[in-house]
Amino acid sequence: MSLRGGTTFLESVLQTLKRAIELGGYPQEVYEILSRPPQRIITVNIPVRMDNGKIQVFTGYRVQHNNALGPYKGGIRFHPEVTLEEDIALATVMTFKNALNGLPYGGGKGAVAVDYKKLSKRELEELSRGGYARALAPFIGPEVDIPAPDVGTDPQIMAWMVDEYSKIAGHNVPGVFTAKPVVLWGGNPVREYSTGFGVAVWAREAAKKLWGGGIEGKTVAVQGFGNVGYWGGAYWLEKMGAKVVAVTDSKGGVYNPNGLNLAEVKAVKDKTGTVMNYDAPGTRKITNDEVLELPVDILVPAALENVIHKGNANNIKAKLIVEGANGPTTADAEKILHSKGVWILPDLAANAGGVVMSYLEWVEDLQWYFWDEEETRNRLERILLDTFNRVMNRWSKLGTSQVTIREAAYVEAVDRIYNAMKVRGGWI
Ligand code: GLU
Repeated sequence: MSLRGGTTFLESVLQTLKRAIELGGYPQEVYEILSRPPQRIITVNIPVRMDNGKIQVFTGYRVQHNNALGPYKGGIRFHPEVTLEEDIALATVMTFKNALNGLPYGGGKGAVAVDYKKLSKRELEELSRGGYARALAPFIGPEVDIPAPDVGTDPQIMAWMVDEYSKIAGHNVPGVFTAKPVVLWGGNPVREYSTGFGVAVWAREAAKKLWGGGIEGKTVAVQGFGNVGYWGGAYWLEKMGAKVVAVTDSKGGVYNPNGLNLAEVKAVKDKTGTVMNYDAPGTRKITNDEVLELPVDILVPAALENVIHKGNANNIKAKLIVEGANGPTTADAEKILHSKGVWILPDLAANAGGVVMSYLEWVEDLQWYFWDEEETRNRLERILLDTFNRVMNRWSKLGTSQVTIREAAYVEAVDRIYNAMKVRGGWI
């Protein structure tokens, strides 16, 4: 479990939940129901026949946190350091993320402790299909729990999993996994960039409020150059007029105060595996710690959690932090930054483009009726803007100097879950 700055990710999430319940004036029981344990934790044992002929056993989880609003929904993470506690935290955030964005979903998250980069394609397919999808088939489904990609998983893995699940069901079940490849039902070109697009839309809207003039010419540093970092931190923000000056990946990165040529950086990353090999006049190498502390307007942490902690919060110079990753800022760090007037657009809002797109894909799958790219992107943007406006209204009502944007977003999310639970009855 990553522990930096004294607070675990799960502790940070639960602290924010507790505060949101106080701020919203909801009964204390709501905390009991929405904190831990989740409604259900499934642990699976996944034996995979490796290319060397030996069996290796992997441990997989699916955490189903809360389903007051609808089927559980959330990604599957393949990462060597995942733990059950982290998976619980991620599933809990999904409950609030889905509620906040007005989706008819509860929250879930899956994980397998594996360094997928060390597996061959066949081993990865075995792990995904035979192991994870088959083992979980009794516990998921389009009306029950709908997984999707997260860190370390991608559309190809979703395709294997949907195929495996469909074989077990005896018919095609497109709506059981989202973020499928474009050629499979509802796999939509928007999906590739949806999370990043959401990051950029949130940054653009916040920049209008924060600086009046908007996002044009604002400098951006991005930690993480995977799907979210590239499309969100970089591609869409640049398209909207911002100037991307620094990007890093897991090995480190590059900084040019005059702006990077993103297409070239991307080409180097694709060719050599890291942005570190990008070399151009005026560009220097930086570490993953340095990228957070650069003199920029906007910082997009789009890698892993707890990277902004109380040990480095005081060194951060950006006025706007857009959480592309889940949980990059600890609660302690957020207090420090909020008191300095920094706006942190929280994960459950800023990176919700992925799951909102998942929702649109799922709706398409249930109807077997598919929209084109433009219609889908417009629908996605409409949902994101609606959430942005609700969060900003809630924030100004609660008092922007006493309350963080994350707390306002949590109040907005808890409000929806609480009211659904209340009207459904039985618990409260
Ligand atoms: N893994 C993404 C997230 O954390 C997407 C989840 C989904 O689409 O279900 O929001």
